[in-house]
Amino acid sequence: MADTTIYCQICGQQHRLNEMELSFGLPDDVFTIPEAEREHRVTASDDICVVDNQRFFIRSIVGLPLIDQPGEQYHLGVWAEVGAPEFKTIFDLWEEPSQSDHPPFTAHIANNIPFCGQTNGLEVNLSLTGVNTRPQLKTLAADSILGKLQAEGIYLNDTMRFLHFDQDLPEEL
Ligand SMILES: [Zn+2]
Repeated sequence: MADTTIYCQICGQQHRLNEMELSFGLPDDVFTIPEAEREHRVTASDDICVVDNQRFFIRSIVGLPLIDQPGEQYHLGVWAEVGAPEFKTIFDLWEEPSQSDHPPFTAHIANNIPFCGQTNGLEVNLSLTGVNTRPQLKTLAADSILGKLQAEGIYLNDTMRFLHFDQDLPEEL
């Protein structure tokens, strides 16, 4: 996957698939907190984000299968919110090599992913995958846009639209 290079019809350059991940820096709701208050109310690292010591977020991956690259996935780097008990369990398992044996946790996506409708708040299963890899999210609502994309996959050409989502592109994939 890392070596897959594709010509981008949007910007005209070559992109490597592993550099095309659309990643969200923080959960969307963090930006509803006035900037002056964020320093006191938000604790964030690359992996976790805690708001007011009562909302808990984990940096995770939404994988979309690539129809024309069987076995490969396009990765969206999104935040998932979990409850306090789930957060504690995940925290305790963080350095545990066998963490992927734990059953999936109920979580909710905490970002609106472009082209995927309303995903902030969408219920998902969060599965731990390993000490050096981010948790994977699986949409539970099969009839949601994201649920369909996770089930049916997208074409390699569609991934460029995520990379350039902030440009003026049609709404539908
Ligand atoms: Zn491009």
